[in-house]
Amino acid sequence: MSWVETANEQGNPFPLQNLPYAVFRSAGTDETFRIGVGIGDKILDLTALGQSEVARASRLNIPESLYASTLNDFMAEGEAIWSSTRKALFGVLRQGSLYEIEISDCLIDQSNAEYALPAMIMDYTDFYASIDHATNIGKLFRPDNPLMPNYEWVPIAYHGRSSSIVVSGEPIVRPKGQIRSSIDAPPHVSASEKLDYEMEVGLFVGAGNQRNVPISIDEAEQHLFGICLLNDWSARDIQAWEYQPLGPFLGKNFATTISPWIVTMQALAPFRISMKHKGERTILPYLSSDREEANCVIDMHLDVSVQSAKMKVEGVPPKRLGQSNFKYSYWTPAQMVAHHTLNGCNLRPGDLFGSGTMSGPGPDQTGALIEVTKGGELPVQLSNTESRRFLEDGDTVFLSAWCEKDGYRTIGFGECNGTIISVAEPV
Ligand code: MN
Repeated sequence: MSWVETANEQGNPFPLQNLPYAVFRSAGTDETFRIGVGIGDKILDLTALGQSEVARASRLNIPESLYASTLNDFMAEGEAIWSSTRKALFGVLRQGSLYEIEISDCLIDQSNAEYALPAMIMDYTDFYASIDHATNIGKLFRPDNPLMPNYEWVPIAYHGRSSSIVVSGEPIVRPKGQIRSSIDAPPHVSASEKLDYEMEVGLFVGAGNQRNVPISIDEAEQHLFGICLLNDWSARDIQAWEYQPLGPFLGKNFATTISPWIVTMQALAPFRISMKHKGERTILPYLSSDREEANCVIDMHLDVSVQSAKMKVEGVPPKRLGQSNFKYSYWTPAQMVAHHTLNGCNLRPGDLFGSGTMSGPGPDQTGALIEVTKGGELPVQLSNTESRRFLEDGDTVFLSAWCEKDGYRTIGFGECNGTIISVAEPV
């Protein structure tokens, strides 16, 4: 239990057991962005905490890397420091802590905050780790041969664009691009008419590795700092024309939305489960580890819904279009790290991985509209009066996630949403 009352309320995503990190400031001000920890409906300002009399007097054990505008330096510290800091913050925020009366002015309401990206993200890699998504998409393009022969061996990914990663709430401008609507006509440039979302899990790298020094599967998890939500916005018409032979480019690199909060691997520890495919498949040795496979998957519920502009006006709640779970991932976080560095590629603190669209095996466990509508063929009903093949201007996409288990407090990941707005000028 925490002395921050809202943290103890059933259903609050940020109980004492979570303690996610974000970079924030008071909304509408030009204050410096700083690192905070989510607790109930509040943010604990770590810079203010560090400067408090009580923190100095009690020699609070949190590192100076937390008095910063990004989490990169703290991410670089590694597991031992992340754990000791978690323990120290637990002590500050638990019920009966001597901090309660001393640091109430270090707390601000989440409703009065605005967020920046939690880290300076220098590299972003998007995986393709849901075999169900890969199969669903493969069926649309290659009905006879949906899954490529490399899929069960290689954790497939492409290098994405980090400059256009934005934090939840940033509007998403409908991208223009080169589109070929018919094989009888040349391509033209216009606004995408097949704009889509992709429900993904984002993984932040903590401590990096030196170039030419691969990270082994058994050490891989120590290099992961935490998890956020990620929406890999995708223009399917641009993508379809450009993707061969080198993969995604302008169909993807106009925007990626992440949630501002990072839930740490320590907070996720109770929600780990064994690999579904354990023992049923052959994996190359560098991706295989008994220790890893016993406890390597995170049971994390995922949920995507869409609300149109009209639904907002009429007070109709967002319509859920898919529900899935990170446990369906064919490749684990550790396998992603081990594979990414096998050739000596160096990861750096703050690097971001996307899991790939995290669809599950069931018909309602779809993480992208292209799957829900079978490539836009079968419109999906949003409300009594509206349906969608792809996203329209004014649509807001909401991702949410939570981890639950008997005997444990449920923890959440905060908001990850974005609203589509039209291109500023006609092409
Ligand atoms: Mn993706």
